[in-house]
Amino acid sequence: MHADELKQNFTKRYVLAILLIALLSSAAFYILHFALSFSDSSAVVINISGQQRMLSQRIVSQSQQYYFYSFDKKSEKEVQEIRSALYESMEEMRDANERLSSGKLSNGSNVEISNEIRELYFGQIQLKIKIDEYLTLVDCLLHTKTKQEAEVILETLILSSDAILPFLNTVVAQYQHESEERLTMIYNLEFTAWTLTLFVLMLEVIFIFQPMGNKIRELFQKVVWNRHNLLQEIEIRTLSLEQANEKLAHLASHDPLTGLKNRLNLEEELAGLIKHYKIHHLPYAVVMLDIDWFKKINDTYGHDAGDFVLCELSEIFLTSVRPQDSVYRAGGEEFVIVFNRITQEQAVNKSEKIRQRIQEHRFVYNEHEFDITISAGVYHPDIIEIDTIQEVLKLADNALYEAKRSGRNKIVAVHKELLEVP
Ligand code: GH3
Ligand code: MG
Ligand code: MG
Repeated sequence: MHADELKQNFTKRYVLAILLIALLSSAAFYILHFALSFSDSSAVVINISGQQRMLSQRIVSQSQQYYFYSFDKKSEKEVQEIRSALYESMEEMRDANERLSSGKLSNGSNVEISNEIRELYFGQIQLKIKIDEYLTLVDCLLHTKTKQEAEVILETLILSSDAILPFLNTVVAQYQHESEERLTMIYNLEFTAWTLTLFVLMLEVIFIFQPMGNKIRELFQKVVWNRHNLLQEIEIRTLSLEQANEKLAHLASHDPLTGLKNRLNLEEELAGLIKHYKIHHLPYAVVMLDIDWFKKINDTYGHDAGDFVLCELSEIFLTSVRPQDSVYRAGGEEFVIVFNRITQEQAVNKSEKIRQRIQEHRFVYNEHEFDITISAGVYHPDIIEIDTIQEVLKLADNALYEAKRSGRNKIVAVHKELLEVP
């Protein structure tokens, strides 16, 4: 998946998850807000209804007090006091009646009037009118001049108070009951919001966060795997490059037919030997060897037979020298043996032994059997010290030429006269 696509995908999932949580939190907030304002209103309405019940009883007692004060020659001041207290109670009860029957509370909030309450106030019982009539009776009492009339009104008032009291009790109980019912409903709502929130969070974990986590893990593993593969690929390529380099280096410094080191190697090693002889006087010998009449082998038995001879000769050379010595194919049918740490005499003797071994060796190629001989020139720095590779090889070659010229199948050691040969 593309990085931008992945980012878009993750962003979408996050936004969805956050929106869902925001939605549920908002719902929980509104439920709580509703519950708080409702519990405020419930407390107010229950308070008013309780107060109204208490007022009805207070009005009866204040009316009785007023009756006695007015007609038992009490001071005008006391009458006025009870009169205004009565007016105050009446006003409070009228206000409570108004609010309880309409649901409009003094704190500005509204309480929904249930059918039961409406039935009490405006149905058969007509509690609203009954309270208004009750208050009218109090008003009449306050305006009555005669004692008899006042007595009758007071009795009616007491009866009327007793009559409305059970209904006022019912109102208190009904409002209380309704408040409890609504609280239960709010509790259920809150519980539903809480379980819904948990459920949605669980769904988010299962369908949003877990797949996201899996996707991230999968991608991470892919990256690690790709990196691992890449490193392996690099390692393999480095290895094959190293092998190719080694092969190239070997090809450049070895002869493909015999596997012997070639002239390039010879020149490199010879440079070291010349230097060490010069500084530490470490003796060495360079023997240049050439097959006698080799062309005839090719001409008589074929080129492949010639190749076979070159390979078999290489074997003879390699098995005739010491580990510290080296054998090179200098080109064509010419070989060079470098003896390390050897005297001139030893070098000549060893060369002689090799020549004899070859002379005695029988070459068998297919159905053909034949002998060959070699000639060689031996250079040793103890005889003539030379500083350059070319001159050393030239001197060895001169000795070889002399061996050829003087009849072949022989070893000629370099001597001073050979310096003169052009
Ligand atoms: P001489 O005794 O004077 O050395 O005689 P020669 O015949 O050995 O020398 P000449 O220089 O006349 O011939 C060398 C021959 O070696 C010619 C060439 O075809 C052959 N030759 C050189 N390299 C190879 C090779 O790699 N394989 C084969 N089969 N022959 C080779
Ligand atoms: Mg030759
Ligand atoms: Mg030859």
